[in-house]
Amino acid sequence: MAFIQDIFSIFNKRNIPFIESFQESEGVYTFRFEKSDDVTWKAGQHGLFTITHQKIKGHTRPFTIASAPEEDVIQITMKISDDPSEFKKAMLSLKKGDTIKMAGPVGSFYLKEDSPTMLIAGGIGITPFRSIIQQIEVEGNNNKQIQLIYLDSSKSFVFQDELDQFAKETSVKVTYIHERDHLNKELDKCICSYSNDGHFFVAGPKSMVETTTTYLQKQKVPKRHIKKDVMFGY
Ligand SMILES: Cc1cc2nc3c(=O)[nH]c(=O)nc-3n(C[C@H](O)[C@H](O)[C@H](O)COP(=O)(O)OP(=O)(O)OC[C@H]3O[C@@H](n4cnc5c(N)ncnc54)[C@H](O)[C@@H]3O)c2cc1C
Repeated sequence: MAFIQDIFSIFNKRNIPFIESFQESEGVYTFRFEKSDDVTWKAGQHGLFTITHQKIKGHTRPFTIASAPEEDVIQITMKISDDPSEFKKAMLSLKKGDTIKMAGPVGSFYLKEDSPTMLIAGGIGITPFRSIIQQIEVEGNNNKQIQLIYLDSSKSFVFQDELDQFAKETSVKVTYIHERDHLNKELDKCICSYSNDGHFFVAGPKSMVETTTTYLQKQKVPKRHIKKDVMFGY
């Protein structure tokens, strides 16, 4: 069903006017665009973004919408290296008033159940969880049993101030770790305390998502309780 919705959604294209961009941390940039009233998404979903203000090869990339639907902007946050792709060079050259195209939203990476949930981010995989936790804060539903584990080996945790604030204002528990071994220990604790009821959302680069889901399955977490958001290209 979600797949069929995605097919329709992908034809839903619109121009979104650029507002501003800024650097979040070393090599990570946020871009904000105007959100009209007819645009919405489920926190955690992504869009397909196309460069239109310049002619480039490879003009479309998927990006998670890092803002919550209740915020009045469309925000995407991405890694940009010292030697960026043409797409990312074009993003950095955006000026106020330029537009890019957004298709979607698409994907099923959003909370459906009220069961205890562990959100596991590897590096830039934090983007869907910023949206999800911001949405929980806006809805004022503070009874959800949600834990975010944010793994970043370089310890440059994007959105850290915001996440700490969300943790104060909601029931969401946030843990920052920089070593892979610590992640398995945190997963073990949750598997133990959630029993068979827990759901696990894993987002990040392919290798991180694969090793984490393999570990969860080895610990007998049912496949249907694991959702993955693989950010190709890293
Ligand atoms: C659902 C989804 C959500 C995403 N959200 C974010 C986000 O919030 N922030 C963020 O920074 N990035 C996100 N990404 C990754 C993003 O779409 C780009 O792939 C990434 O930023 C690299 O783009 P680039 O222009 O720097 O490099 P590119 O020029 O695209 O390529 C980098 C390398 O990745 C390979 N590659 C590219 N696409 C694919 C693919 N589909 N399958 C296999 N290999 C591939 C290329 O061959 C190349 O070796 C997301 C990806 C997906 C699928």
